Amino acid sequence: MRIFAASIGTETNTFAPIPTALESFHEMFYAPPGQHPDDAKLCTAPLWVARRRAKAEGWTLIEGTSTFAEPAGLVSREAHETLRDEVLGQLRAAMPVDGVLLGLHGAMVADGYDDCEGDLIARVREIVGAAVPIGVELDPHCHMTKKRVRNATLIICFKEFPHTDFVARGEEVVELTLQAVRGKIKPVMSLCDCRMIGSFPTTMQPMRGFVDKISALEGKDGVLSISIAHCFPYADVPELGSRILVVTDDRKEAGDRLARTLADEFLAMRGKTTPDYHSPDEAIDIAGKESGTVVIADPSDNPGGGAPGDSTVILRRLIERGVKGAALAPMWDPMAVRLSFMAGTGGKLRLRFGGKTAPTSGLPVDALITVKKLVRDATQTFVDAKVPLGDCAAIDLGGIEVVLITKRAQSMGIDLFTGMGVDIARKKIVVVKSTNHFHAAFAPIASRVLYCDSGGPIPRDHRQVPYTRVQRPIWPLDEAVQPIMV
Ligand SMILES: [Zn+2]
Repeated sequence: MRIFAASIGTETNTFAPIPTALESFHEMFYAPPGQHPDDAKLCTAPLWVARRRAKAEGWTLIEGTSTFAEPAGLVSREAHETLRDEVLGQLRAAMPVDGVLLGLHGAMVADGYDDCEGDLIARVREIVGAAVPIGVELDPHCHMTKKRVRNATLIICFKEFPHTDFVARGEEVVELTLQAVRGKIKPVMSLCDCRMIGSFPTTMQPMRGFVDKISALEGKDGVLSISIAHCFPYADVPELGSRILVVTDDRKEAGDRLARTLADEFLAMRGKTTPDYHSPDEAIDIAGKESGTVVIADPSDNPGGGAPGDSTVILRRLIERGVKGAALAPMWDPMAVRLSFMAGTGGKLRLRFGGKTAPTSGLPVDALITVKKLVRDATQTFVDAKVPLGDCAAIDLGGIEVVLITKRAQSMGIDLFTGMGVDIARKKIVVVKSTNHFHAAFAPIASRVLYCDSGGPIPRDHRQVPYTRVQRPIWPLDEAVQPIMV
């Protein structure tokens, strides 16, 4: 048995000011065939799982390229076509194969391509023919388009947000694809469009219960897998929106009925799935009355959703209000990192940092700072994965400590702070830039978690997103909506 595996991923915020180029993939994560490190990355779990299983079970895995770019703006046509054709060339060279495994993100949009993953999967299908199973793992913040569902054999999304289950779902993709290759199952997919845009952290109700419910439906009555495609709200593409995908063992009608029922239930949760978003001052006020460490998340400047990650809006209010005992990370500013390295550990300098990329980033901060700690090629941890941060500098503004980073990333692991010598357990306020991935690592150390909207480029109210091409009607742009089978 010969299986081919590859991975191309990024999440494209078509409204974001930072372009995504070929070098964005090479800088963030790029592993040529056979060079993938021995830990699973967010979008590469199928390849990593398959490598272990091939070794244990004695079949042949042909590894293609694995690459991922930090979420940002539109992907260049060159980047998409180059990476796509690289993987397709590897697949052609590997033929004949019995199955294909793809670890993709699912919200990659390039110049001229609204659906990069659909384009890739369709071309993979052309090469391998109709009979060879193609198993795909996607992030739930994806556009679950008709094209990719038509051309893949099975697609499975992470269920959790934070995405702590990316390896577990990758194991399912590999297991079900192998079963399909061996003729033990015949996966068929049923897709229902909920006509809804939203954010769905699984750390709170009612979403927590919904995920537990669909998980309990799997593995019986011919249901192989159920995915909730949350949607990725910050892309101006026609097929944006929440969708339910049911994979059954050759039970299309039952799968369709279940997808439609679950879509009704999911749509009924609209408006009830997000936490309260405070203004920066409200969040600081609430934190001031709490004992212990309060974590304030700023999803509106989340680099994980394509925002620059250099907003100074909350930091400026902390400084102006004279708050002491606070820490903030990350702040993306490669130039400020470089100046901090030039000053050296313990160095003092008048530093201008942050607030450079867009009007929504706020203005740069000018402060007399002390360089507290410098680390080359720092990382933070998400579950078992190491997330690169590039060269980093922890700076002290006199009661407020900030971690400056070189490679854009959202706040995921507490080692983002502690690895830079910032003792967050002793801080009153810890500000992170993240929608919900921070929650897995930071909630356990927090006396309270608050969510804040600093007016960054990822508005929490989706009615403020300047869509022009999204299918209508769709909630919350339109009130009267109902699910539609796709
Ligand atoms: Zn995601």
